[in-house]
Amino acid sequence: MHLMHWMGKASHWFRRGLPGYCAFCLAADQSDRGWCNECYQMLPWNTEGCLQCKEPLKDRRLPYIQRICGHCLTNPPAFKATTAELLYQDPIIELIHDFKFNFSPRAGTLLVELMLANAPIALGDVLLPVPMFRSRARARGFNQAHWLANQLGQRLNLPVINAVCTRRLPSQRSLNRRQREENLLGAFQVQGPLPDHVTIVDDVVTTGATGQALAVAALSAGAKQIGIWAVARTPLDKSC
Ligand SMILES: [Zn+2]
Ligand SMILES: [Zn+2]
Repeated sequence: MHLMHWMGKASHWFRRGLPGYCAFCLAADQSDRGWCNECYQMLPWNTEGCLQCKEPLKDRRLPYIQRICGHCLTNPPAFKATTAELLYQDPIIELIHDFKFNFSPRAGTLLVELMLANAPIALGDVLLPVPMFRSRARARGFNQAHWLANQLGQRLNLPVINAVCTRRLPSQRSLNRRQREENLLGAFQVQGPLPDHVTIVDDVVTTGATGQALAVAALSAGAKQIGIWAVARTPLDKSC
């Protein structure tokens, strides 16, 4: 039973990895994007997010320009806008896990294609991936944000610069936004001088605290405007 399960899973991922098939429903698809139209439309879109941090808003009737969440109104972030057009829900969770923990380049390529299909209006002068502390990157085998930024940089002909994570960060998983921000204080360093408009690249935005800490570091290295570009956004931690 166990063997059959894994054989089924392997065959699923093998077909998913083949060009000419939709990555989500595995139907034959002749476009080179990796998905069919039906599946693309059914993805969990984050259409009503805050314009600045992309947190999904509860009040969906707000006019476009008033779509700013309470947190961004009371504590304006160091970044101007976030582009994270999908919600961190299945099948995006599955795709990101496959990319991050199974090192699937096909899943990574699909994430890059999804990001390119939903890119910020202003791409900026340079891409800045969220760094990972050295020993953590070594343990995982790669830094997913760095991989995404390099692929996007090649496709868009944009330079990629690297920040340094100065210390090992305790897990952020159980922390609310305020605790995450404290946890990340001074954790990132960027070599300046940076060009005016910097776009931070990450796979998932959780509370925006990581983007905030890196944006502060980029501003102090000479940048004037920061945007964040990620595949997906999770709803805010209920405890904050
Ligand atoms: Zn499909
Ligand atoms: Zn916001």
